[in-house]
Amino acid sequence: MNIDLVSLANKGIRGLHPYLPGKPVSELERELGISDIIKLASNENPAGCSSLAQQAIQNELVDITRYPDANGFYLKEALCEHLSVAMDQITLGNGSNDVLDLIARTFAGKDDEVVFSQHAFVVYPIVTQAVEAKAVVVPALNYGHDLKAMAEAISDKCRLVFIANPNNPTGICLFHDELLAFIQQVPKNVMVVIDEAYYEYATDDRYPQTLAWLQEFPNLIITRTFSKAYGLASLRVGYSISHSDVAGLLNRVRQPFNVNSFALAAATAALKDKAFLKQAVDLNQQGMDYLQKELSRLGYDFIPSLGNFITVDMDCDAMDIYQKLLQQGVIVRPVANYQMPQHLRVSIGLMQENQRFIRALKLVAGR
Ligand SMILES: *Cc1c(COP(=O)(O)O)cnc(C)c1O
Repeated sequence: MNIDLVSLANKGIRGLHPYLPGKPVSELERELGISDIIKLASNENPAGCSSLAQQAIQNELVDITRYPDANGFYLKEALCEHLSVAMDQITLGNGSNDVLDLIARTFAGKDDEVVFSQHAFVVYPIVTQAVEAKAVVVPALNYGHDLKAMAEAISDKCRLVFIANPNNPTGICLFHDELLAFIQQVPKNVMVVIDEAYYEYATDDRYPQTLAWLQEFPNLIITRTFSKAYGLASLRVGYSISHSDVAGLLNRVRQPFNVNSFALAAATAALKDKAFLKQAVDLNQQGMDYLQKELSRLGYDFIPSLGNFITVDMDCDAMDIYQKLLQQGVIVRPVANYQMPQHLRVSIGLMQENQRFIRALKLVAGR
C-alpha cells in the first residue's frame, strides 16, 4: 500500500516552500569548472571576523565533548554590558532566525494573524505558515513599509507584527519618528518585532534607537545577530532583547542547547573587538559609495540601502543577468521570490570584489 507521506504532515508545514539560499561558491566551481569565484549573495562580512573570535574558538576546542552552557551566561553578561539591559531581557538563538521562529511559536497559532510587508524578509512568511497562522501581507510603498496601511491591517485576530529595519532584500530603513508613531498605534496586546540584523551598519542619525522604547512598550521585541557586521554567520548566533516576561516565555520554547559553545565564545569575544567592527562598517560604507556611484553612472536605479547590500533594478528579467554573471564567476542574489523579478541583490564585498562585479555587469549587460 502506498502512503502519501506528504499528506501526513501538519497543514502549515505542507504549505511551506524551502528557503532559497545563495548559491555556494563550491557548487558553482563544480558546475563551471572554474576557480576565482566571488560570492556577493548572502550579505556575509567580506572582512571576515575578529581575530579575538577566532582565538576564542581555538580555546573552546578542549571542551568539544561537553554540552554548551544552556544559559549562555557569559555571552548574556557581555551583551548586558554592551547594551545596558538586564540579563533576563535577553534570549539567545541559533542565529536570529531561530529567535524569529521562537517568537512565532510563542505568540501565534492557528487562525491568528501575523502582519508584515510585501518584500519583507522571507523568514516571516515561513515561521507564520509553520504555526498555521494567517499571513497578512501589506503592499509595500516604493519598496518600503507602508506603516499607515500596516496599522490599518492589524485586526482583533492579529498577534504579531514583523518589521525588518533595514529590510532585507530592499535595504530600506524606517526612521525614528515614523516608526515610533507606528508603535504608538499598535494595540498593547500585539507583539511588534523589530528585526535589526543590520543594526551596526545603519549609522544614519535618524535610525531609531529602539532599545530606549522597551520601557514604554512592553510588547516590543528587538532582534539582532552576529551573522552580519560581526562576520560570524557560520556559527549561527543571534538574540532578542525584550521585556523579561517575554524573554521568559521565549526561553521556555527554546531548546536548551540551541547555541553551541564555539558560537557563545566567539560572540562574547567579538563584542570586545570594537576596532574590527569599525573597520567592517567603514569598509561597507566605502563599498556602498563606490557601487552607488558606478551603478548611477551605468544608468541603473537602485533602492537606497542602509544594510551591507544594494538591490538594483536590472530593467529586464533579472534572472538573465544573474545567469550571465554566474558565467563570469560572480554570484549575486535574484529576488524574484520576493516579487521583485527585475531586481538583483548585491552584497557589498571587498573593494576588488565590488570592482569585479561592476566589470562583469558592464560586460554582460552591454552598458
Ligand atoms: C540575515 C538576516 C537575519 C538572520 O540572520 P541569522 O544569521 O539567522 O542571525 C534576520 N533578519 C534579516 C532581515 C536578515 O537579513
